[in-house]
Amino acid sequence: MTFQDLNLNTPLLNALADLGLTEPTPIQQKAFSVIMSGRDVVGIAQTGTGKTYAYLLPLLRQYTFSKQKEPRILILVPTRELVVQMVEEVKKLCPYLSIRVEGVYGGTNINTQKLVVAEGLDLLVATPGRLLDLALTGWLNLKFIKHLVIDEMDEMLSLGFRAQLVRLFELLPKKRQNLLFSATMSEDVDELIQEYFQGPMLVEAVRAGTPLERIEQSWYPAPNFYTKINLLEHLLAQDESMQKVLIFGPSKRTAELIYQQLEARFPDQFDLVHGNKSQNFRLNAVAAFEKGLCRGLICTDLLARGLDVTDVTHVINVDTPADPETYIHRIGRTGRADKDGVAVLFTTEAELPAKEAIEALMGKSIPEMEFPEEVEFSPKLLESERFYVPEVKLKERPRPTSGFHEKLAKNKKVNKGNKAKYLRDMKYKKPKSKGKKR
Ligand code: AMP
Repeated sequence: MTFQDLNLNTPLLNALADLGLTEPTPIQQKAFSVIMSGRDVVGIAQTGTGKTYAYLLPLLRQYTFSKQKEPRILILVPTRELVVQMVEEVKKLCPYLSIRVEGVYGGTNINTQKLVVAEGLDLLVATPGRLLDLALTGWLNLKFIKHLVIDEMDEMLSLGFRAQLVRLFELLPKKRQNLLFSATMSEDVDELIQEYFQGPMLVEAVRAGTPLERIEQSWYPAPNFYTKINLLEHLLAQDESMQKVLIFGPSKRTAELIYQQLEARFPDQFDLVHGNKSQNFRLNAVAAFEKGLCRGLICTDLLARGLDVTDVTHVINVDTPADPETYIHRIGRTGRADKDGVAVLFTTEAELPAKEAIEALMGKSIPEMEFPEEVEFSPKLLESERFYVPEVKLKERPRPTSGFHEKLAKNKKVNKGNKAKYLRDMKYKKPKSKGKKR
């Protein structure tokens, strides 16, 4: 199937041709006609499956030119970085369309954004908080929104945006199309869908937990965090194919530690993004990485989720995430659209159960690599590693065949119920007791 087979128009086909895209991905094929039909859709799709164009293409296909100032398409995303990226993605599809696209997000001057939205626009990309501020102060009228997209819904909820979303639903017109995209169908997501949306059609790209097939996975056993950094340094020095590497650390502090050591060994080749960095710094670091100006980016899960960096050659998991789906999200950054990728995992003994949980979720085991002899073991431990005591399996002790005390005769009785009462109730149709009703 090619894009020509979808009911697209010339401006979109030309834009896709300019981008060098010819074949729709499975989620793009599945979602197109459903979204065109006007139905609500819940898309379960990870980044890297082409989910963004899966909703942008049908939305832009239905777009008609208007001089109206109020936006008609609203796309909500959880972070500022994603707003910037999403605006770029939309613009890539729109060189031959006359459409006004803007993005608003918190943490920057609201007055500038007030003026931007006051000028008029067709498609707005926003984070929920800033959008509410603009709507509640009267600068933005949401009454003409016909299509609402909530992207990275699971992330949005885990960041605590539930209340803002619910408030936003109240401000939006009742008659609208809802398109929700989430990498996983968590309980939170499901609950919100049940509560606020009616009969959405489920479109699934890759079932959560299915490994992206083109990713070559492997794992290294390592005794502790500092030895893992030595191993990381060794792999980066040995393997020249590691050209665009995304490195995940378990926390801001450990991400900093990884950065410091790599910076000392490979000056100016690596960058760091986490929540404590200023927004501009983060945007610049991601842009530099995307352009290939630095070899690797060290990040924490929160910041990396949904980041669209293309052609990532390797994802290195310095920690083994306790939540197996986090691992699936992480490795989804490599092996994008039509490229192969490599994912490497470092696991300590304490993390072995987490690795097993990942393997159970994927339904396959990750091949083990031998710990390279040249890599030095570090005796230094993180605070969190100091208290780990390896589980020693106690020998099975023979169990006593009977309890220490014989049960008293009255406790041996089995409750057979009150047969006479039951028959009487049946005969006279007495109201059932609460317990029975249950
Ligand atoms: P997404 O899953 O939306 O984050 O998209 C991941 C990447 O896949 C983006 O860089 C897109 O440019 C790219 N992409 C989207 N659709 C296609 C397609 N049909 N063929 C090849 N690449 C695509």
